[in-house]
Amino acid sequence: MTLSLDGLPPLREVINTFELRAKKSLGQNFLLDLNLTGKIARQAGNLSACDILEVGPGPGGLTRALLFEGARKVVAIEQDERCLPALAEVSDHYDGKLTVIQGDALQIDPWEHLTAPVRIVSNLPYNVGTELLTRWLSPAEWPPFWQSLTLMFQKEVAQRIVAKPGSKAYGRLSVLAQWRSDPKIVMEIPPSAFTPAPKVTSAVVHLERLEQPRFPADAVWLSRTVAKGFGQRRKMLRASLKGLAPDLEDRLIAAGIKPTQRAEEIGLEQFCALSQLLKSQ
Ligand code: SAM
Repeated sequence: MTLSLDGLPPLREVINTFELRAKKSLGQNFLLDLNLTGKIARQAGNLSACDILEVGPGPGGLTRALLFEGARKVVAIEQDERCLPALAEVSDHYDGKLTVIQGDALQIDPWEHLTAPVRIVSNLPYNVGTELLTRWLSPAEWPPFWQSLTLMFQKEVAQRIVAKPGSKAYGRLSVLAQWRSDPKIVMEIPPSAFTPAPKVTSAVVHLERLEQPRFPADAVWLSRTVAKGFGQRRKMLRASLKGLAPDLEDRLIAAGIKPTQRAEEIGLEQFCALSQLLKSQ
């Protein structure tokens, strides 16, 4: 058998050997080209001085690239038990630099296995991707345990993360991401790069954390305010935010917002100011 550049079997071979037929329910669309996963890994910046958290390593395409590019350590959380033997071979090959935790990333706290600085790099399962991103962006304390996030999403989700006010894609994810980080779309990946090919184009977003949020706000209140505002995005804020304060219109005006404006017209600074005013009742 011809080995790949990293000295391990080609990913197609791995998939056949371990019978890793993709499961739709787990959002499994695998990347089998190590040149491509190498490019994604390099978007994360210098890996050699960092521990990496990867969610959903699957057969190990991105995991292998991260290790090949020199990551100090990779901790990977994978729900699908079938992938564990393939990942064990990777761990052996890299002298135990890879630790695999089997389970649901939404239920697992991996931080005890990681040492700062930590970068998160993942081709996220579509069903938990936005939930994980929201959690990583919303801890009460800032800066968080991670330095950067390099994440693959459906292109439409990536566009929401970087969207500016006034655009259709602007929403809760845009506000939360841009409040505390600097998000950029760094790559687009066509469906044909995946096995099996998904219906939509994907994109890699790199978010470098800011040491301080751009404007003062409380994560819970900001999240609540934008979730409600964009939950009914066609409504004026005086209607969509109803229930958050008895004197809502006064607070909107104090934050520099007209009660007749809609969430998609409101910039980050105004959302932060409003959430602070709503919190202090
Ligand atoms: N990283 C691989 C690649 O790029 O080829 C696989 C990416 S695939 C889009 C998503 C992976 O996440 C699958 O391996 C799937 O089993 C795993 N997964 C799905 N839901 C998960 C969860 N809740 N926690 C951890 N892993 C999950």
